[in-house]
Amino acid sequence: MKLVDTHCHIYLNDFNQDLDEVLSKARTAGVEKFFLPNIDATTLEPLHRLVIDHMDVYPMAGLHPSSVKEDYQIQLAKIYSYLKANSDKIIAIGETGIDLYWDTSTLEVQIASFKEQIRWALEFDLPLVIHSRNAFNEIAEVLNPFRNTGLKGVFHCFTGDKEQAAWIVDFGFYLGIGGVVTYKKTTLPDVLKHVPLERILTETDAPYLSPMPHRGKRNEPALMVETVKKLSEIYSKTFSELASITWNNAKNLFPIAWR
Ligand SMILES: [Zn+2]
Repeated sequence: MKLVDTHCHIYLNDFNQDLDEVLSKARTAGVEKFFLPNIDATTLEPLHRLVIDHMDVYPMAGLHPSSVKEDYQIQLAKIYSYLKANSDKIIAIGETGIDLYWDTSTLEVQIASFKEQIRWALEFDLPLVIHSRNAFNEIAEVLNPFRNTGLKGVFHCFTGDKEQAAWIVDFGFYLGIGGVVTYKKTTLPDVLKHVPLERILTETDAPYLSPMPHRGKRNEPALMVETVKKLSEIYSKTFSELASITWNNAKNLFPIAWR
């Protein structure tokens, strides 16, 4: 039984004190691979350090939509040179996308930044890791011209409705499912009844969005088992069947040396 956390920010300061313990707890829980989405130019270095130190940690390169400000072109240039210099290691472009929850005033530059990162995904033939918050229609509008271009990717931490899920599946993308699926009031379990399990990826988004019963505390990759348990209920599979199918899904999307 092996699991992959396809989205965790374990290079952030939240893990400064106990990262080794966090990783070993996760490995004991069955998490064998950790995929790290980048946030901005300042996080490249701590992210890269982790990748050097750990065989099972894999880097992405991207600029988070909430970090897209006036200087976004400088940020993108720095991240692009990291991508170029490390293209043998980088497994995805992200996280990118559009976030209109925190800031609507930057929509125009968020779109420009997103489009630039789509070009990187195509140039390097890498999957795109999309952050979508209060911005599904805006994102769909940007993505639509890229149908049948070979563009692939995942809507990370998907929490949308049935129509949005159907759009993503039809486009050929995956849905990243995290701790939100365990929350009492979420409609996500009903939505997922219409999504084929072959399109689901498991993730934590650690240190954010802890699953029940740890909601409100720091999230970490070991807690992904709560999400996998919930998903196995939703899809009427055993824990290990769910683990093996989602492992294969990640294998289909992310270009790493799988074993
Ligand atoms: Zn994230």
